[in-house]
Amino acid sequence: AVSLREVRKSYGPLEVLKGVSFDVAPGEVVAVIGASGSGKSTALRCINGLESIQGGSIEVCGHHVGTHLSEAGLRALRQDVGIVFQSYNLFPHLTVEQNVTLAPRRVKRMGNSAARELARDCLAQVGLAEKADAYPEQLSGGQQQRVAIARSLAMQPKVMLFDEVTSALDPHLTGEVLRVMEKLARDGMTMITVTHEMGFARRVANRTIFMRNGLVWEVGGAEMFAQPRTPELRDFLGHEL
Ligand code: ATP
Ligand code: MG
Repeated sequence: AVSLREVRKSYGPLEVLKGVSFDVAPGEVVAVIGASGSGKSTALRCINGLESIQGGSIEVCGHHVGTHLSEAGLRALRQDVGIVFQSYNLFPHLTVEQNVTLAPRRVKRMGNSAARELARDCLAQVGLAEKADAYPEQLSGGQQQRVAIARSLAMQPKVMLFDEVTSALDPHLTGEVLRVMEKLARDGMTMITVTHEMGFARRVANRTIFMRNGLVWEVGGAEMFAQPRTPELRDFLGHEL
């Protein structure tokens, strides 16, 4: 579903991705871990075309992302790839349902009743069917983040990217968001999730990618948490756990 080949990305003189390669199969859940500044968010942003790349190539659900990307190519890519950030950025003046139906109505030209039905479905998937008419400020942080996930799902993406979606949440709210993501994973969604939740990575991810200084440093399954091969990963896990 997703394939990165020797991806390079710089901000001015600063090279942030130094030849990053990895693959994600359809239905696979991949966690990305690593220290602050290692390039995790940048890698995600390149995958859905939020950032241009200076070298290498990315293949996402049949879309080819090279160093140049047309407007039309970008639009098509983003329809297939949902991304959820740490900050939920819901529209405060719109209800939960209106937040979720906005993109399908605007981008996919979906009719009102179809969009509403889809929104109810997506809200049910995140356990918030009963909050359709609430406003974001009436919800907890965890509920707002679940609405943000529902809003992404409403575009019916083939791949979902999550960037530290629980980092701003209290521990008990973190749990409810992780459970929603775990359910999505079980239902077969292809997911790449940048996370500091080592338990989630170990338990839910099929594979975990450890990034360091703009490189994929180590890749493995759950076993890599108990037996890291590189001293750098051992060090990192020592600080995280
Ligand atoms: P964190 O765990 O703190 O979120 P990260 O692994 O997601 O870190 P990135 O956000 O990908 O790290 O950043 C990688 C490097 O790129 C950092 O050195 C950062 O300062 C730099 N960087 C990120 N965005 C920009 C930007 N828009 N302009 C210049 N430098 C940037
Ligand atoms: Mg980041």
